[in-house]
Amino acid sequence: MLDLAVVGGGAAGISAAVYAERRALKVALFEPGQLGGTINEAPRVENYLGYPTITGPELAARFAEHLRAHQEISLVTDKVSSISREGGAFSLKTEGGETHEARAIILATGAAPRRLGAPGEAQFAGKGVSYCATCDGPLFKGKRVAVAGGGDAAVVSALYLAEIAKEVHLVHRREELRAEETLVVQARQVKNISFHLGRTIAEVKGGKFLESIIIQGEGGAREELQVEGLFVYIGHDPANSLAKSLGCELDGKGLVKVGPGMDSTVPGVYAAGDVRSGSSAQLIAAAGDGCVAALSAAAYVKLKR
Ligand code: NAP
Repeated sequence: MLDLAVVGGGAAGISAAVYAERRALKVALFEPGQLGGTINEAPRVENYLGYPTITGPELAARFAEHLRAHQEISLVTDKVSSISREGGAFSLKTEGGETHEARAIILATGAAPRRLGAPGEAQFAGKGVSYCATCDGPLFKGKRVAVAGGGDAAVVSALYLAEIAKEVHLVHRREELRAEETLVVQARQVKNISFHLGRTIAEVKGGKFLESIIIQGEGGAREELQVEGLFVYIGHDPANSLAKSLGCELDGKGLVKVGPGMDSTVPGVYAAGDVRSGSSAQLIAAAGDGCVAALSAAAYVKLKR
């Protein structure tokens, strides 16, 4: 039996696994996708201590390297499909048909990119509509693109895309951007970024591939922007299905409610990173959450052994 199953291999999950292994817990980390999680999608990271500037994929690779240096941690590259409580422990089933038993669980499942819900968005996903500038930005060299959103992710991506694309149109539903002031100041100085504030994206249009978007102001005035790419950065929704099925209490946004030790309302279940209530959704805080959750889980497991 495992002492601890960590579900999710982003900053929170990797940090949790490393801390738990150092507390002599028998740990498995479950991550079917890329280690590092959503940081793989960040063009640039400038606020993770020790790395004044680094790309998201490079930092994710450092995290993965750090994890692999802890050879006692089992890495399971299969998706956890369900978790149930069995007696005093938990039973995890994977999509590949494996079953793992664990005394405690850390949910570090993060969050998935939110969709605009505009007509045409789903139709042109992968045909011009993207949720990852780092992954798809290079395909739009010398082309016109739009970015939807007004937070840090939207502005960082607009700055990155401005180095590749001919024009970047940032479309945000309010007149003010909520992104960090320094990012906004930088973006305002870039000649090929234009701002369409107080505008929503009413429609996404094209033939085989995306050709244009319709943006709409408050009074209903519509304008067509000819773009071949649309990068949607309007926040994330928590990946909370496992937490729900375990009976963890959630807040109004669907985030897992936790105490100061990242303990959920279900004994033996902890939540860390973007899936937990009250998270600042910052990379460095997610890594800190993983540490706190692992120390709490270690104390719990030692009582259960
Ligand atoms: P965010 O801060 O939640 O911003 C989401 C943006 O999308 C907001 O401007 C919001 O508008 C808009 N929005 C939400 N739902 C929408 C909808 N249905 N239609 C149109 N627009 C919608 O999300 P984020 O930018 O992904 O950032 C998430 C977290 O990661 C934040 O804590 C952020 O600080 C952090 N992050 C930091 C960096 C960095 O370099 N420091 C980079 C990336 C992310 P309103 O403003 O009107 O609410």
